[in-house]
Amino acid sequence: MPHNPISRHQIARLRHDTRRRTLTVATIEALGTRMRRIGFTSPELHDFVSASPDDHIKLFFEDAGGQSVMRDFTPRRFDTGAGTLTIDFALHDTGPATQWAAAAQVGDRLAIGGPRGSTVVPDDFDWYLLIGDESALPAIGRRVEELRAGAPVITLGLVNGAADEQVFATRAAWSGHWVHRNGAEDAADGAAALLGALKALALPAGEGFVWIAAETGVAKALRAHVQGTLGHPREWLKASGYWTKGLADAADKSLDG
Ligand SMILES: Cc1cc2nc3c(=O)[nH]c(=O)nc-3n(C[C@H](O)[C@H](O)[C@H](O)COP(=O)(O)OP(=O)(O)OC[C@H]3O[C@@H](n4cnc5c(N)ncnc54)[C@H](O)[C@@H]3O)c2cc1C
Repeated sequence: MPHNPISRHQIARLRHDTRRRTLTVATIEALGTRMRRIGFTSPELHDFVSASPDDHIKLFFEDAGGQSVMRDFTPRRFDTGAGTLTIDFALHDTGPATQWAAAAQVGDRLAIGGPRGSTVVPDDFDWYLLIGDESALPAIGRRVEELRAGAPVITLGLVNGAADEQVFATRAAWSGHWVHRNGAEDAADGAAALLGALKALALPAGEGFVWIAAETGVAKALRAHVQGTLGHPREWLKASGYWTKGLADAADKSLDG
């Protein structure tokens, strides 16, 4: 039956009051071989708002020269009643965020700001396809966990090896696919591997929402395939570069804009 395009699939953009909060590290856990899950507590989290799984907060660090720098991270999980927030950090070679996360210890403090806004994707699509690397797994995991019971959701994750695959507890009908880098660090290899796996997927019938976040060149290659080759409607696709190979602080959040 034809649907009413006005009432279905309305993507809402919300703004939030931003303020700076100071958090304290309470728990640290290894998430596979290349990620660290850090749990924070703060009484200032009682009115923390994050309406969408791909929201981002700013984390404030000091760089090697003592200057304050910011990096974007996903509120992976939070509980305003308990005053807790979880952030999953992908560990890589260098950078103030990864260095801070690798060295973090219980009791350390970290300042955050935001989220400033949320892009809320409705829960009424027939299916969801979420693709990304470690930096995107927090948003992917949160969306899989928050989707309605029975919603078909396919994830395609690029990680180093089998030990880095994650399991999400969800009532949605989740099908998780993984591509392994096996030590190869070249972003172009990641694009080829993800594209190969994507081409092998059988997507469900009906109207789907596709979300992509990875290294900028990888995200662009995937977006070109989904929009160009598969002909997926542009308004039902969100693609972002979460980092750019060789450049510090170089997210490109507007690939689809
Ligand atoms: C909306 C949004 C949400 C995000 N959420 C998360 C999140 O929850 N968890 C998370 O881990 N990341 C997340 N990211 C990515 C994160 O912001 C970047 O990876 C950021 O560059 C890390 O800062 P840094 O100080 O460690 O490295 P930078 O100083 O920015 O970069 C130093 C060097 O490291 C390289 N580099 C940066 N990131 C990576 C990476 N992931 N893998 C390999 N090399 C890298 C750069 O190319 C550069 O050469 C998110 C990004 C966006 C835009």
